[in-house]
Amino acid sequence: MEHLALYDSLTGLANRRLFIDRLNQSIQSAKRHNSKVALFFLDLDQFKRINDTLGHDAGDALLLTVAERLQSCVRAQDTVSRLGGDEFTILLNDLGDTNAATTVAKHILRVLKEPIKLDKHEVIVSTSIGITISPDDSVDTDTLMKNADLALYRAKEQGRDGYHFFTEELNIKALRLLNIEQELRHALSSDEFNLLYQPQINLKTGEISSVEALIRWHHPVRGEVPPGEFIAVAEETGLIVSIGEWVLRNACIQTKMLQELTGQKIRVAVNLSTRQFTDPNLEHVISDTLKSTGLDAKYLEIEVTESMLMDDIQKVILQLNRIKATGSMITIDDFGSGYSSLSYLKRLPVDILKVDREFVRDIPDDLSDMEITSAVIAVAHKLNLKVIAEGVETIDQRDFLMINKCDYAQGYLFSKPLSFEDLYRFFTVPERKTA
Ligand code: C2E
Ligand code: MG
Ligand code: MG
Repeated sequence: MEHLALYDSLTGLANRRLFIDRLNQSIQSAKRHNSKVALFFLDLDQFKRINDTLGHDAGDALLLTVAERLQSCVRAQDTVSRLGGDEFTILLNDLGDTNAATTVAKHILRVLKEPIKLDKHEVIVSTSIGITISPDDSVDTDTLMKNADLALYRAKEQGRDGYHFFTEELNIKALRLLNIEQELRHALSSDEFNLLYQPQINLKTGEISSVEALIRWHHPVRGEVPPGEFIAVAEETGLIVSIGEWVLRNACIQTKMLQELTGQKIRVAVNLSTRQFTDPNLEHVISDTLKSTGLDAKYLEIEVTESMLMDDIQKVILQLNRIKATGSMITIDDFGSGYSSLSYLKRLPVDILKVDREFVRDIPDDLSDMEITSAVIAVAHKLNLKVIAEGVETIDQRDFLMINKCDYAQGYLFSKPLSFEDLYRFFTVPERKTA
């Protein structure tokens, strides 16, 4: 009974309860002996993928091997435990200095990377490690666990297969995120968001074919906050779903209004985040919004980034088809920044490719960027897709795009993102067409 209560049944390692117990003891003993304790948090990179592809038995076998290898990397007085899933923790006692922790971390990374045989398959796993040191970082168990978790998160952010030590800075960053989360919730209920619209020009006719809706946050103290600073937090906290619905709804309402004011059939492009893209309810949100705002579906473009499509292709096709079923168009944003192959692209139900700003930026100075851009345009046309270039700032860039038969362009050369009022004015100024 006691064994069951204190040890993990799959690996035989200490479980969370025993681990916390040992951590408490180690902190006390380090105090008495004036030594240090290191706490490691480990998380296998992409364990979920292996588990999903090879099945749970293979997943269990993999965890067992990892457990054995971790145990082999530490001394008898240290503790390895499994908290659950693919999360392991290690407690290193009596450290002379923090360099010893670095040595162990490097050793673990190396040992884990040896191929693991699972039945017929051989897999290679890597891990990320977060490290915190007691008493340097804290002498409180909960705080140390939190520190190690933050450090692990940072290690993952830095591209996996690495280790990271806790620093006070990570704590400050985490607190800031928490703060932004609270503020974002407040922003939604108190109307602090608005949309700007950036015109997209048809290069053949010079007319505005559509506008891209870009969100802005008017923070009561910080002023205008660009999306780059809050979309990721909104995504992490799930708030993006409500914010995304707000964006979609307002973009449709205002575009419908613009169509009526100008008598022109303008489209609107709305950006989706990853979380929205995979939301099973997305299709209904889009069709309900179209219905309630009265915007005809053919005037809505949904922008998904290339990186969102780097998942299981069948799943991606299903998701895209669900969007298509609403009658709206699909654009692949930031195209060229990911690594989708052309054969992959051919199978996706998309309408427009948006060439990433990175490639446009160095035209006409960078020959290879020019070649990539013209190749993307040619391939897209072969696949019957339209192409838009974003971040067009100069006449040279526009001319290059026109010569290469790019369909649309968007960028400061034509217009910055505009408020709804300025956008309306933009439509009524005659000299715009000569831009
Ligand atoms: P994006 O969709 O690729 O949007 C284009 C970004 O390039 C916009 O930045 C725009 O202001 C900027 N831009 C436009 N023309 C030029 C130019 O000529 N030169 C340069 N250097 N930049 C130009 P913004 O508005 O800060 O948006 C950044 C990103 O935030 C967007 O990239 C998009 O991924 C995301 N985003 C914006 N609005 C929303 C939204 O409503 N929902 C979601 N999920 N994401 C959004
Ligand atoms: Mg976009
Ligand atoms: Mg883009």
